[in-house]
Amino acid sequence: GDAQEHYRYVIVGGGVGAGYAAAEFAECGLKANELCIISSDQALPYERPALSKGYLKPSSPARLPNFHTCANTPGAPKQTAAWYFKQGIDVKLKTRVTSVDIKGKSLEAEAPGPRHHHITWDNLVIATGSKLISMDKAEGSGLKGIVYLRTVGEADDLVQEIQECKSRKGHCVVIGASYIGMECGASVAPHGIDVTMVASGDRLFPRLFTPEISTFYEDEFAKHGIKIIKNDRAERFVDAGNGRVGTVVLKSGTKLPCSLCVVGVGVKPEVELFKGKLPLADSGGIQVDGSLRPVGHKADSVYVIGDAAAFPLLRRGGDLQNVQHVQHARESAQYAVQSIMGKASGDYDYLPFFYSREFDLGWKLYGDQAGEPVYFGDKAEGKFGCFFVKDGKVLGVFAEGASDDEAKAMRAVADLRPSFQSKDTLARQGLDFATKI
Ligand code: FAD
Repeated sequence: GDAQEHYRYVIVGGGVGAGYAAAEFAECGLKANELCIISSDQALPYERPALSKGYLKPSSPARLPNFHTCANTPGAPKQTAAWYFKQGIDVKLKTRVTSVDIKGKSLEAEAPGPRHHHITWDNLVIATGSKLISMDKAEGSGLKGIVYLRTVGEADDLVQEIQECKSRKGHCVVIGASYIGMECGASVAPHGIDVTMVASGDRLFPRLFTPEISTFYEDEFAKHGIKIIKNDRAERFVDAGNGRVGTVVLKSGTKLPCSLCVVGVGVKPEVELFKGKLPLADSGGIQVDGSLRPVGHKADSVYVIGDAAAFPLLRRGGDLQNVQHVQHARESAQYAVQSIMGKASGDYDYLPFFYSREFDLGWKLYGDQAGEPVYFGDKAEGKFGCFFVKDGKVLGVFAEGASDDEAKAMRAVADLRPSFQSKDTLARQGLDFATKI
């Protein structure tokens, strides 16, 4: 059937950004039937980072509804179906937006049934996030046991494949050694499965880690029995004879036997819908100005948040950046809604923040990794890190094992960019330098 609907606010996408935007709308004052969220996902907005961490734990794994968005925000409501219902927010799940008309303020969407929606809006928030880079051109890519991880549905598949791999006493190959690769490797191994990771570079997570930091985590992975193959790439997959993956063949010719293969080779902004309609940046993503509105579309009341936005990072001289991290999704959502409600002041000013957890480790990085690293702490004790310094100022700070209070202090350092006496004192003081700010 066909449905025509009008909403004051429409959010395209139902991930992290959408969930935080909904919470902010509710906070700012929302009437029933003013807000519609259209999401191709099967579940209400949730904290996506949980999928590669708590969700994959061998015991007491995280499950919905326990990690819907704002799960860790003190005092925030639980954003379950009951909450959306109470707010009068219409969430259309399993519904894919197939075209948009920015000037006409309308969109078309397809839902199961099949059901077609024609929806018009006064204000639009684009929160379509990222899509996975797939290896579907590789030979054998359609075999069972090859999994990707972006949605809770895919996380369920992975959980099932982990059990399957265990019962076959099989191996797991993880392709990729940055965020997803590291977290999935670290999450699969505790199931008693032999894990090999394939890194295209010469070390773990070179984009974010210094060589010294990479070495620390490589040693930790080795302690957990995880092998890392460097400077190589997966090229094709070979059938075990039953329609399941049996071998991953690398560029070097190395053959890795496996019955589970997790592919984590990156993401790119999901912006296909807006090609030719909104300006796209070279870096990928919809090009927005400091108000998070697409360049050249100020009058249209369209905002772009989260992974889909290429926005000027004020703290890097306004360089256009595509930040594919959860904290930006949260903060840009809050900023955009405040802006729509006439409550935002100034431009969106994001302070870069990255974090991850592997085994019982946890690292955080605030600010810029520019300049020279000044290391502090004790690796043997699992508590160490570095300041990134340039021209007598601290621009950023990385730490493994920081407490919540220390993390707050790290954030303050990255925010204030204080000057320091000498590298020696900085190295000696470590996070005490931060907590004294
Ligand atoms: P998403 O959360 O991806 O949401 C996009 C939504 O848009 C989805 O609901 C999708 O279904 C929907 N959508 C897309 N196109 C359409 C369409 N045409 N019609 C309808 N709906 C559509 N970041 C960190 O900082 N730290 C971490 O530890 C971390 N861990 C992660 C672990 C995993 C497994 C993954 C996948 C990501 C992780 N991230 C992490 C990244 C973080 O989750 C993202 O940056 C964040 O989710 C971005 O939010 P978003 O709202 O922009 O997009």
